[in-house]
Amino acid sequence: MLTIIAIDALEHKLVEEFDLPNLKLDHYGKTNISEFSEARTMVLWSSFMTGKNQEADILAKGDKEMWNTKFELDETFFSKFKNPKVIDLPGYNYDLEQHERSRLLLREYFETEDEEKKNEVRKKYNDNAFAHHRIVKKEFEDALAAGHDLLLGYFSVADEIGHLNFGNKMMNKMIYKELDEIVSQVPGDKIVLSDHGMMAIGYYGDHSEYGFWSTNFEDLGNPKITDFREIIGKKYQ
Ligand SMILES: [Zn+2]
Repeated sequence: MLTIIAIDALEHKLVEEFDLPNLKLDHYGKTNISEFSEARTMVLWSSFMTGKNQEADILAKGDKEMWNTKFELDETFFSKFKNPKVIDLPGYNYDLEQHERSRLLLREYFETEDEEKKNEVRKKYNDNAFAHHRIVKKEFEDALAAGHDLLLGYFSVADEIGHLNFGNKMMNKMIYKELDEIVSQVPGDKIVLSDHGMMAIGYYGDHSEYGFWSTNFEDLGNPKITDFREIIGKKYQ
């Protein structure tokens, strides 16, 4: 059994700073995403699951349509497994309504000048992200015991919360510890993978230009996100 803990915007520097053993597993490092013009979530996860750079095709859809990208099982390496389970992955089966709620609250936040209103919207935005996290976490934990040969859980909380609260060290640490705890429950072979990291822009967070990987079975060096299809294919053929 292989479990992939796909974490949006997990930052290599913070994993080191907080020194979280489960996120680091036995081997860890950065992924190389320099083939992409920008670190875009939808582009990176789509390229990961198909093993092919999907940037040009996805950007051609335009900003709004981009989020409706949906690859079929047989276009992804998930189809090489007999009984795969994939939870909430962008470009595959992401909860679009959740994304839309989050996007609208983010826009509302940046459109208002009023500090009190900003705090109110930030709270709503954070609550929405944490509520979604609890749903995904429950589904992931239930799936761990269900006998899948591939389980992938996608966790967006570090990205969503990071965008509006990256300057809040305590909140970052709380989220990273929560993610570390989730990884600790996973038996067997595991890969922790992020699409990109996050860097501070004042109090806010923006995507950094490399991702994060770790495994408990192999040192992968500095892989491209499109290499995972082959890495996993070789190990599980
Ligand atoms: Zn992302």
